[in-house]
Amino acid sequence: VTPDLVVVGAGIVGLSVAWRALGAGLTVTVIDPAPGQGASRVAAGMLAPVTEARAAEAPLTRLGLESARRWPAFAEQLADDAGGADLGLRREGTLQVAFDDDDRRALDELAGVLDLLGLDAERLGGRDCRKLVPLLAPRVRAGLLARGDWQVDPRRAVGALLVAVERRGGTLRAGRAVGLLQARAGRSRVGQPRPPQPRPPRSRPAGAQADGRATLEPGPAGPVAGVSLADGTTVEAGAVVLAAGTALAEPAGSIDGLHLPVRPVKGEILRLAAKPAGCALPLTIRATVQGRVVYLVPRADGETVVGATVEEAGFDRSVRAGAVSDLLRAAIDLVPAVAEYPLVEATAGLRPATPDNAPLIGPTAVAGLHVAGGHYRNGVLLAPITADLVLAGLEQGRLPAEAAAFSAGRFT
Ligand SMILES: Cc1cc2nc3c(=O)[nH]c(=O)nc-3n(C[C@H](O)[C@H](O)[C@H](O)COP(=O)(O)OP(=O)(O)OC[C@H]3O[C@@H](n4cnc5c(N)ncnc54)[C@H](O)[C@@H]3O)c2cc1C
Repeated sequence: VTPDLVVVGAGIVGLSVAWRALGAGLTVTVIDPAPGQGASRVAAGMLAPVTEARAAEAPLTRLGLESARRWPAFAEQLADDAGGADLGLRREGTLQVAFDDDDRRALDELAGVLDLLGLDAERLGGRDCRKLVPLLAPRVRAGLLARGDWQVDPRRAVGALLVAVERRGGTLRAGRAVGLLQARAGRSRVGQPRPPQPRPPRSRPAGAQADGRATLEPGPAGPVAGVSLADGTTVEAGAVVLAAGTALAEPAGSIDGLHLPVRPVKGEILRLAAKPAGCALPLTIRATVQGRVVYLVPRADGETVVGATVEEAGFDRSVRAGAVSDLLRAAIDLVPAVAEYPLVEATAGLRPATPDNAPLIGPTAVAGLHVAGGHYRNGVLLAPITADLVLAGLEQGRLPAEAAAFSAGRFT
């Protein structure tokens, strides 16, 4: 049976889209050669629109704030759908600190951005920071407490999504999508905006043209109606959502004029095991430590995530010894007790970044083809709102006006 939707990519973004679409009554197939093994497996899971805020990215900050607001309900429903999974959502907040007087400049800059954007964060002196987190080094000078910057464990979230998608009747298919199927008899043409469409029946997303399906083949213009896989098979569908992380554009190569500029930005990150008794951090700490940027994200189960480098290194996913050393030195300078934590994992992931650091969401100019990608540093944070916006795009044929800054066609 032809599903209403094929989602290409089973990271946190694609799976969130698939799960929400199933909840809306669509039939869904998800395609991925290695579900859950992309950036989502590596991410720290900070839900941090406030401490991530940049003056030049106000719309992105607003999107992040709205997505953070949706996370608790998203997590609760997902936990239910996955049979009572614990996603590790923690809402203690985030403390951004400056290690020494020079680092204060970065903290003051952030405070200025927050003032500009009208965002709340409590200013703390060094002593107040240590009262909140006694494990902090005595040198810590000052801090900003962002109570609304939370965290979730992305590995648990992806695990729960995989279970929930299957329990809701979705199909997970192992495979790599390498092309799009287009109906030659289709009425829409590449490069032309699609006319507004009437709200379709619940079971058929906008852009799904039944009349063209009989003549499907990879090729020129026409509504997208499925994908072809590397093993030579095809999967037909009413619509396609590309959510393949750094490989976002890979299956769309056959389409002229569609520009989905996503590049990999490497991040190396460490995982430390349960700390010795009495050494737990009570909340996420972010810092500049003598100019080095570092964060420590403590999970409820005792794991502490220490991250992360930011490098333009193509598709290289090796972990450099120097990166491990830099991250550990900054973390130990900041929280000396970290020296006693067992180091259990050093990994690297590729953030899917766009030229303006904002995601690509919703319908493209090609009928039946939708996008959910390019979430760069914030794919975990933005998963709930992305899924809701993609669904709105599927149902209404366009993004809600307030999300125009993230339209999938803005670089085309
Ligand atoms: C070190 C690091 C720390 C981070 N920390 C945070 C954080 O604290 N908070 C936050 O919000 N974000 C964070 N991020 C960013 C976050 O990880 C990403 O934005 C997010 O995971 C992107 O999700 P995704 O589903 O788009 O991509 P991915 O998780 O990469 O998933 C893409 C999937 O597509 C599949 N795929 C690829 N090509 C194809 C194809 N042709 N056909 C089918 N499937 C395909 C892959 O196998 C993969 O499973 C971090 C990233 C890194 C690297």
